Amino acid sequence: MAGNWKMYKTPADTHAFFEKFKPLVADSDHCEIVICPPFPNLPAAVQEAHDQRIRIGAQNLYWGKEGAVTGEVSGFMIRAIGCTHVIVAHSERRQYFNETEADVMRKTVAALENHLTPIVCVGERLDERESNRTEAVLIEQFQGGISGLAPDHFARIVIAYEPVWAIGTGKVATPQMASEAHAVIRAQARAKFGSALADSVRILYGGSVKPDNVKSLMSEMEIDGVLVGGASLDPLSFASIVNY
Ligand code: PEP
Repeated sequence: MAGNWKMYKTPADTHAFFEKFKPLVADSDHCEIVICPPFPNLPAAVQEAHDQRIRIGAQNLYWGKEGAVTGEVSGFMIRAIGCTHVIVAHSERRQYFNETEADVMRKTVAALENHLTPIVCVGERLDERESNRTEAVLIEQFQGGISGLAPDHFARIVIAYEPVWAIGTGKVATPQMASEAHAVIRAQARAKFGSALADSVRILYGGSVKPDNVKSLMSEMEIDGVLVGGASLDPLSFASIVNY
């Protein structure tokens, strides 16, 4: 159960969030909990989570270790401050920063080489769904950004299916729509990496997940977890998603 805070909260807000959130998930050992705050809040989040089962991730990374790349943050640095995860290719990165499938691949490999678990995002836009291109888009994104990984690298990634039209819009995909998309992704994984790895790769659904819709999504066999944006900002609502 992963939360993406996007560009919200300060370090002080981060401490306040964890103060309320930690007791609510103290007994939640049925799942892995990951929270991805903005870069400046990562040290506060790592400090808050250090004796907990909660893992902390960044929302983006650069593929080099260090260098003259002003404004970027490397996987090496993210790992060095105690993060375990990083989101790769969130649709907002694809849309506003023109991230390509080649970038997705470079970032995913860089995350893995730095012992971070990449949460690799894929998903179609509304116009693509409306023109019946959902399956083709998911296949293109898998082929371009994921299928070139070595099998031992693929075994360590998490995939998030996030239909762009459902992110931050309040329009959630139906459990059936999400399940069908996950099945397309898993079929790609099976064809490329074999049944064992395809069955074990975790595929999260993301897009307007809330406390009142998480249960129906999670009841789908294909859905292994959720990536939550807006509803992860509030400790009560994210805890009720975790504990659905
Ligand atoms: C996200 O940012 O990954 C996301 C799914 O956002 P929201 O839950 O707000 O739709």
